[in-house]
Amino acid sequence: MNRKILVNIGPYESRAAIIENGKLVELLYEIQDSEKIVGCIYKGRVANVVAGTQSAFVDIGIHKDAYLTLTGVETNDDEDLKDIFRSPIQDQLKVGQEVILQILKEPTPTKGPRSTMTISFPGRYLVFMPKVDHVGVSRKINQDRERDRLRAIGKRIAPKGSGVVFRTASEGLEESVLKADLDLLVKMWRKVEGKIAKSPPRTMLHRDIPLPMKVARDFFTDDIEEMIIDSEEAYKTIIEDCEFLSPLQRASLELYKDKTPIFEKFGIEKEIERALARKIWLDSGSYIFIDKTEAMYCIDVNSGRFSGGSDLEETVFKVNLEAAREIARQIRLRNLSGMIIIDFIDMEAPSHRAQVLKTLREGFKGDRNKPNILDFSELGLVQMTRRRTSASLDEIRKAICPCCQGAGKTLSAATVANQIRAGLIDEAKRYQTDRIILNAHRMVIDHLRGKDNSGIRELENQLRRKLILKPASSFDIETFKIEPVMERPVKPGRRQNERQPHAAQNREIAAEPIETTAEHDETPEQGMLPGLAENVPENISESAPAIDHSENHGEKDESNA
Ligand SMILES: [Zn+2]
Repeated sequence: MNRKILVNIGPYESRAAIIENGKLVELLYEIQDSEKIVGCIYKGRVANVVAGTQSAFVDIGIHKDAYLTLTGVETNDDEDLKDIFRSPIQDQLKVGQEVILQILKEPTPTKGPRSTMTISFPGRYLVFMPKVDHVGVSRKINQDRERDRLRAIGKRIAPKGSGVVFRTASEGLEESVLKADLDLLVKMWRKVEGKIAKSPPRTMLHRDIPLPMKVARDFFTDDIEEMIIDSEEAYKTIIEDCEFLSPLQRASLELYKDKTPIFEKFGIEKEIERALARKIWLDSGSYIFIDKTEAMYCIDVNSGRFSGGSDLEETVFKVNLEAAREIARQIRLRNLSGMIIIDFIDMEAPSHRAQVLKTLREGFKGDRNKPNILDFSELGLVQMTRRRTSASLDEIRKAICPCCQGAGKTLSAATVANQIRAGLIDEAKRYQTDRIILNAHRMVIDHLRGKDNSGIRELENQLRRKLILKPASSFDIETFKIEPVMERPVKPGRRQNERQPHAAQNREIAAEPIETTAEHDETPEQGMLPGLAENVPENISESAPAIDHSENHGEKDESNA
């Protein structure tokens, strides 16, 4: 296998693309968010020590003092070291004292960031703790032999007086791999150490390991062909800092100077777009779907337009083979983890099944997160699991749809129109007004109008009120606002969306140009009459289906798969 790595350094985010045998198989992201300070190491000055709560406040030069306790060491993994620190805080810290601390939790509007003096550097397979003499192993690694093996390695490779905690991903890995991971972390720490004496208090000493360094560490193995990087600064850093690279590897590092952006030049942007879609077309005209549910990923193979010949079994076999290759690649590229179920098209021949399975497994050859792939089940499904080491592409690149809260569907315009009718009747009973203003999405308003505005005339007769319809461009389908218009500005009877269609939390109603009902009294026609005549759709049936936009954005997502 030969590998090529492209690194794109940008002002807001940096990306690395791993290409194996000419195909993009993995993407790494680093998003620069200067607001986020979790993991950052600061030199601070103690501002206050509170013996009662065994905590201290430390000025680190940001708007709020950091909150510091001595108990509780967080390593982002399963091992905790809570009992290591037991001495009273007032014996250890005095006001004005300079301390080195690391942020554990972002500040909130009311609270300062939570911090610790137990510095830790999370690597890929282990966490390095420069100041704690302790070797730990993730609780998820439960075989005693493996735990003992890792502990022994830890004792050998950890610098004197420091410690490591092996993460779940370290299971079964060779000592040299683990040591390479640790070496980079130790190097980072040495850099921080070098800055401590030179820097004044209230200084940030360390942020994160830069992406090019991580990439060099994780991917610069002997089968590497070249690494091309588009930033001169990052290029120089790697040359200077990566002594762990052999001279041969250093020689294959190249600085990209072309005017065309590097990812565009190598066709990576297109591939990324494809890796974010739910449906993926294959060369033959068949396609696969990748869906995420709460419990697992489901991958479905469809033959689509593909017809390889008259032999159905042979055609199906070819589609499945092609799909198996692409599925493996997409799983790596999207960085899917947890349980994955693949529904290939049914095949009769056991030899065909075996070959499809073999192809799928081969697709993960260069994968660092070795998956576990089971045989075809009785129902013809393939089950597999893949380790989670970092966020999936989807988690990095997409947010939950604000219209449907990730459900992929919203209430139909007909349903919302019915809710509005009920709301209007209710409103008319409560308020003695001439007019009621209704703000809603255009589709809902169109639905209420019905053919030739007959729906509205009917509703007005029933309510014995004039209705002012306001299509609100900023409302989503499910949101509406009913406002009775008072003759005199008594108490503005403004009530917002009293029938919330969802029990959804944090659902806000966008502010519309209507400010007070009194103002509207003077210009009641505004925004209403011109709209009445236009855009009345012809055939809206009462049973209009729910709007399904799951094709584009349907993913509900909890990050811990
Ligand atoms: Zn949606």
